[in-house]
Amino acid sequence: MIASRATVVRYCKTCLMPDTRPRIVFDAQGICNACHTAREKDAIDWDARRREFTAYVDRYRPKRGSYDCIVPWSGGKDSSYVAHRLKFEFGLNPLLVTFSPLLPNEIGAANRESFLNLGFDHLMVRPNQLVSRRLAGRFFRERGNPKVHWDAGINAVPVQIAVGYEIPLIFYAEHGESEYGGRVLSDEHRKRRDLAEVLENQIGDDPANWMDGTVGERDLAPYLYPDVAAVERVGVNALYFAYFFRWSMYENWQYMKKAMPSFRTDPKGRTDGTFTDFDSLDDKIDNLYYYMQYVKFGFGRATRDACRMIQNRQMTRAEGLSLARKHDDEFPNTFFGENLDYLGLTRPEFEKIVDQHRNQEIWERGANGWRLRYPLE
Ligand SMILES: [Zn+2]
Repeated sequence: MIASRATVVRYCKTCLMPDTRPRIVFDAQGICNACHTAREKDAIDWDARRREFTAYVDRYRPKRGSYDCIVPWSGGKDSSYVAHRLKFEFGLNPLLVTFSPLLPNEIGAANRESFLNLGFDHLMVRPNQLVSRRLAGRFFRERGNPKVHWDAGINAVPVQIAVGYEIPLIFYAEHGESEYGGRVLSDEHRKRRDLAEVLENQIGDDPANWMDGTVGERDLAPYLYPDVAAVERVGVNALYFAYFFRWSMYENWQYMKKAMPSFRTDPKGRTDGTFTDFDSLDDKIDNLYYYMQYVKFGFGRATRDACRMIQNRQMTRAEGLSLARKHDDEFPNTFFGENLDYLGLTRPEFEKIVDQHRNQEIWERGANGWRLRYPLE
């Protein structure tokens, strides 16, 4: 919520991101910190970063057998790009670890299968579906976000497996807070995942609070971090690939099209609410997830995608603005029936919950329904 601030929404002068994005910082010229991060990349000595990377992996490469590292892997273009380079460019033997989507999409499953056939070992954790579904319904009602527990699981499971298998190195893709606008405490945070920061920022609360008459303590196992002593005993070091190699969602996609020509995209030619057809295809609930981001913060999936491309100079601001105006407000019709069924809601119940989470400081009701008080400009 933005209750304590001035009510005018500002949009970044360089990209399109509004200052309603949680934790984003604007400078006096009205430019967001994700745009500054993008420009700072121009001055980075990427050869030196590559040498630093090589030194890390040489240090961790095991002397005998087993895995060199874990890659938290959804099967999408970004995590597949990381895994592919680690294995085929740097000769590492990564173990891919997937935390199951809430509502698995056949496209994502097919992409995972194709990628695994290139020659990878894979572990997938699929938590108790009765519990997962109950939590999704509850979190959608309470917070307008059906994925709160999924966020916890996707963060916890790779660390659980690092500890259990004694694999001390994890390669995450990118540090979202610095790449896309958010809180960046230091350069070290762009390089190394701070597990305490993850717990504070991304989970938002303690899974122990999720227990009710149906969800018991033992049901929380997939969502809990191992204890600190166990993480320290194994010496888990979690690094961001994007710190060492220049990161671009669009370039990753170009790389994957070559590495795996069978990579499937959205059969509609683009995904609900945006102009891309290659991103976030593995979970049928994601269309609804991004729509709720629009309701809560006033920026949609097209704005999100356009900002990433503008920051990497793959699109002008004017092009992005036009695409965002065209697609941001599209209702997530694809899979909507399945989403409602999964969350245990009727359409009127759904609409009531959406409006409860609509931020009325940024939305007003017009003759034709809700509209943004400060539209993208
Ligand atoms: Zn910006």
